[in-house]
This record gives sequence, C-alpha cells and structure tokens, in this order.
Amino acid sequence: VNGIKNTLESIKIAKEHEHLTEIQSQLINAALSIENEMSTVNDQLQSGQNQVNALEEKIKKLESELDVAKKESSTDHLTGVLTRRAYDKEVEKIEREYARTNKSFAVVFFDIDHFKKINDTYSHDAGDVILSTFGRILSKETREHDIVARYGGEEFVVIIHYNLLRELLGYLKRVKKIVNENKFIYKKHKIKLTFSAGVSQRDNYDDYKSTIEFADKLLYKAKNSGRDKIILDSGKEF
Ligand code: GH3
Ligand code: MG
Ligand code: MG
Repeated sequence: VNGIKNTLESIKIAKEHEHLTEIQSQLINAALSIENEMSTVNDQLQSGQNQVNALEEKIKKLESELDVAKKESSTDHLTGVLTRRAYDKEVEKIEREYARTNKSFAVVFFDIDHFKKINDTYSHDAGDVILSTFGRILSKETREHDIVARYGGEEFVVIIHYNLLRELLGYLKRVKKIVNENKFIYKKHKIKLTFSAGVSQRDNYDDYKSTIEFADKLLYKAKNSGRDKIILDSGKEF
C-alpha cells in the first residue's frame, strides 16, 4: 500500500491533464486510509494474540495445580501410600491387565495387632508415627508395578504380582522379618509390633471381589488364631 501511495505521489501530471490531479489526490488519500486501517487491524491482532498467550499461561498453571491436587487426593497424608479411593481405581487397571495377560497377583490384607493398645499406652501421636513407618516399610518392599494402600485406620492392602509362589512368599517373609525384628522408635520408647495378614491369589477366584473378600476372611482367621500370623489361601501359614 505504501508503495502504491509513493508511486501515485511520484506521477507528474502534465499541464494539459491538470483535471487529473484531483483524482490523483483522491487515490493518494484512499491509499493513506487503507494504510491506517491496516495498522489498526494489526494492533487488534496483536492484542488478541497477547490475550491468547495470557490465557495459555493461565491454563498451564491450572493444569499443574490440578496435577498436584490429584496427587494429594490419591495419597494418604499420614503414610504416603494410596488412599482407598485411589486403590480402587488402580484395581480396575490391574483387573484389565489381568484379563489381558493373566499374570498372577495376590491381594494381601495387613492389620496391625493390638494397635488400640499402642495408642492407649504411648499416645495417639506414637500410633501415628508407627502407622507412618509401617506404611513406609510396605512401600519400600513393594515394587513399582505393585500397589500399597491404606484401607482404613491400621489396615493396609497390597497387590503383589508374581511369577512363582516363592516370590510372593519371599515378599511376605521379608515384611514380617523387618517388622518383627525391629523396634519402632517413638521419643524414648522402643515399641515392638506385630501384624496379621490374609493373602489370596487372584487365580483361585472368579473375580477380584471374591479374592479380596477371602483375603479379609483369612485375616480374621489369623486374628482369631493368636495374631502375629500370615495365612494364605493355599493353606500355608507362618
Ligand atoms: P486387633 O489386633 O484385633 O486388630 O486390635 P486393634 O486394637 O489393632 O484393632 P481395633 O480395630 O480394636 O483398633 C484399631 C485402632 O486404630 C483404633 C483407632 O483409634 C486406631 N486408629 C485408626 N486410625 C488411626 C490413626 O490414623 N492414628 C492413630 N494413632 N490411631 C488410629
Ligand atoms: Mg488391628
Ligand atoms: Mg483393624
């Protein structure tokens, strides 16, 4: 537009065509007003672009806040393991994978023995420290593909994938050894802890629901037969 305007301005009109100078100046004015119009449109586009950039920034910030919130709502504050709600979601994934691969897994229900007595003897705060340590032990002994969740108060549930039964037994024995052979420390107290557990293997049941129900039954059985015991659906106990 600027080029056209310059060209129009540079045209020399001969005396005998003087009547054309009026048209020439009209054309120059038209070019000028197009130029102005374009500059306004450009400004508007730029301001639109700035607004889009600002909105994109805002979306990014909200997305990362949402990620943090999601993570917080799926993690139990005290123990750092999954909440029960997050666990249920994970189970859905695990069940889909099981339908596809048929890779065995076991559901392990843990319940700390006489936990109420620990609260009563050493304080609720001591109980919290023990719960948090117990959660950490389970997390540390569980591989990335497996899951640990706090099912309620002093109850934890773990899903362990395995190829051979002895891998599962190895895991259970390791956890039992760590818990039983160490003392939990709270202030000046060294506290001994035992737990009971029920273990059921997914292969032995039609669905996940029956699997976890049986693990719960075995936990109850372990409690009734003196506690400090792990009972598997294979009949093995230790
Ligand atoms: P059992 O061997 O039969 O499992 O006995 P228990 O005392 O462990 O079981 P019970 O169900 O009678 O008591 C569980 C206790 O766990 C009662 C409750 O106050 C305590 N508890 C639940 N959640 C928390 C928590 O977040 N922190 C603390 N400190 N205690 C908790
Ligand atoms: Mg208990
Ligand atoms: Mg309980």
